[in-house]
Amino acid sequence: MLHNSARAIDMSLHLHSQTDPRRHEQDGPLIVSGGDGVYVRDDAGNRYIEGMAGLWTASLGFNDQRLAAAAAAQFAKLANYHTFNHRSNEPCIDLIEQLAAVSPISSCKIFLANSGSEANDSMIKLAWYYQAARGKPEKRRIISRNGAFHGSTVMGAVLSGLPHMHRSFGMNTDDILYAGKPHFYREGQEGESEQAFADRLIAELEAMILAAGPDTIAAMIAEPVMGAGGVIVPPTGYFPKLRQLLDKHDILLLADEVVCGFGRTGNWFGSQTFGFKPDMFSVAKGLSSGYLPIAAVVVSDKTYQSIADEGHRNGVFGHGFTYSGHPVASAVAAEALRIYHEIDVVGRARTLGARMLEKLRDALADHPMVGEIRGVGLLAGVELVADRRKKQGFPAEARVGAQVERACRARGIILRNMGDVLALCPPYVIEPDQIDELVRALFLAIEDTR
Ligand code: PLP
Repeated sequence: MLHNSARAIDMSLHLHSQTDPRRHEQDGPLIVSGGDGVYVRDDAGNRYIEGMAGLWTASLGFNDQRLAAAAAAQFAKLANYHTFNHRSNEPCIDLIEQLAAVSPISSCKIFLANSGSEANDSMIKLAWYYQAARGKPEKRRIISRNGAFHGSTVMGAVLSGLPHMHRSFGMNTDDILYAGKPHFYREGQEGESEQAFADRLIAELEAMILAAGPDTIAAMIAEPVMGAGGVIVPPTGYFPKLRQLLDKHDILLLADEVVCGFGRTGNWFGSQTFGFKPDMFSVAKGLSSGYLPIAAVVVSDKTYQSIADEGHRNGVFGHGFTYSGHPVASAVAAEALRIYHEIDVVGRARTLGARMLEKLRDALADHPMVGEIRGVGLLAGVELVADRRKKQGFPAEARVGAQVERACRARGIILRNMGDVLALCPPYVIEPDQIDELVRALFLAIEDTR
């Protein structure tokens, strides 16, 4: 009977995240049943190289046995406890000690949460609390950027500069200012250098800050590399200038390291790759290699001191989640960080990433459907175009990126298309020959769609 198949049940019962519901009712799910290193297997037995590490998450592949053992051991020892009212637990302490040791904010405090969205919501609340503590509660507005993705909670969605995250949800975006997208290929003007483009973005942002009034702005949030916005690597010099500008106007800089954290860009954190110091940063995804939901906000000690004073005045810091510092999630994340050191994820991202970009350029740089290949560390994007010379994209309704994504699956690899940009973000445990296979399959999938 139809209803007995898992596929039919999913089609009839499941409202999927970030999916077209009507298409899903027709096309159904890809049911993933197993994982083996960088490979996943579907319920029909097909094997794929997971070139996106799931959702930029599974840095250690899909069945790391040390992470499984860490979870099992902690489940058997203490499966649940909380961190309200001064409570703590050993795995959580192990994790924050390790996170502080790699944090680019050398003197820091760490708040724990369960997802990237929660961590970003928390950063905004911390920024407001900080400004209130300094006697500046009117500093409320937040600067985000067109093309940003910061999550799906109400605040995460409002911060996100992607139209589909707002449309039909009745979002109140009154307190958010959206700055320009740092996408040189698309937004750079004729004859403008990358440096000049960065300068123009900063000048436009300053004009926006002055028009709104610096005294009304609490913070700016930014991904070092925009992920879901299309793997946008910022132009040279952008972030140091941004930092200077925000300091000048007494505005906090919050880095969303949910995708970039833990080696992805060739340093432990994206802020190090792009040369700036944030006041706070959020991490999730790679923190536990995506094996259990866990996230964190790392706060500079200077910012923390005001927050702590305010919490003390209030009698309690009125924020936190039931599962903040969950012992099993913390134990898995702590083990993941140990493995990251042991296998040298930073070194792997640099060497494997260089190979991935080189292979992508060899295979696709002259392809008539490819406008730009961009990337940093073990993270890359391939932007498809209808006309290379004019940088003209395909009409949205042609869904060319989605066609290529489907063709990739038929050729045994999983990538993600964001419109007509294909993203590559494989697990760090990928081997050089698997990178070659991934790129070769992408080339063939693009050819299939020509
Ligand atoms: N920030 C960035 C940069 C992300 O890419 C994502 C998710 O893709 C989030 C935040 C939200 O994380 P979560 O889905 O864990 O809430």
